[in-house]
Amino acid sequence: MYKRVLLKLSGEQLAGKFETGIDAELGAWLAREIKQVVGGGTQVVIMVGGGNYARGAQLAGHGIKRVTADHIGMLATMMNALALTDIFESQDVRTRCLSNIFAQQVAEPFVHRLANKHMEKGRVVIVAGGIGRPYLTTDTAAVSLALELDCEVVLKATKVDGVYDCDPHKHKDAKLLPKLSYQEAVANDAIQVMDKAAMGLAMEQHMPLIVFDALEGDNILKVTRGESVGTSIHE
Ligand code: UDP
Repeated sequence: MYKRVLLKLSGEQLAGKFETGIDAELGAWLAREIKQVVGGGTQVVIMVGGGNYARGAQLAGHGIKRVTADHIGMLATMMNALALTDIFESQDVRTRCLSNIFAQQVAEPFVHRLANKHMEKGRVVIVAGGIGRPYLTTDTAAVSLALELDCEVVLKATKVDGVYDCDPHKHKDAKLLPKLSYQEAVANDAIQVMDKAAMGLAMEQHMPLIVFDALEGDNILKVTRGESVGTSIHE
């Protein structure tokens, strides 16, 4: 069983059955899944994406500067983090939202010691604003935060159940790869589970990654117990 994990949830996943925005019903389901994990003694920090509202790289252009677009992207992650915090608490999961962009009226700032303290007390920490700087995604922010908080693994939730040798939506004979080295994941352009910056940082700092389907019942619990779920990417 892992003692401390970082779970990366994308905005697309939080949107669930909707095109955009957040699917609160799905969020409540996730809260109950994570409650089991915390109850079992694993500390959890969540990095949320914002792609259900805005992504900097897509928004930039027609006069919107890339830096501004990324600021908007970070604000999008904040909307998800705020909503998810309330949803988690509504399911009796003790949760704190800490923000990497200054927004004192709406969330406490991210402080390393505070995040540690909350997790040691069994509270789930949801981080808003990625890492607080442009030209990054929440995947890279997730790996960076996992390193900062001594997490043992980054659990990257995806809509497929792991990494395939080719796109399973396009190729019927695509095979799930249970294990993969960082080098293979970086070198193979068909594998797009995480952006290269995130993968590069994980490789350089030896942070293991597990890519899996978090929306399959009990998968988050299984993965935190060390059961073989999805694709494990390591040395
Ligand atoms: N972002 C950023 N710095 C960070 C994290 C995120 O600038 O540290 C911006 C970036 O524009 C990104 C957007 O926030 O596209 C939303 O995050 P992301 O695209 O990773 O969301 P996801 O695809 O996981 O929903």
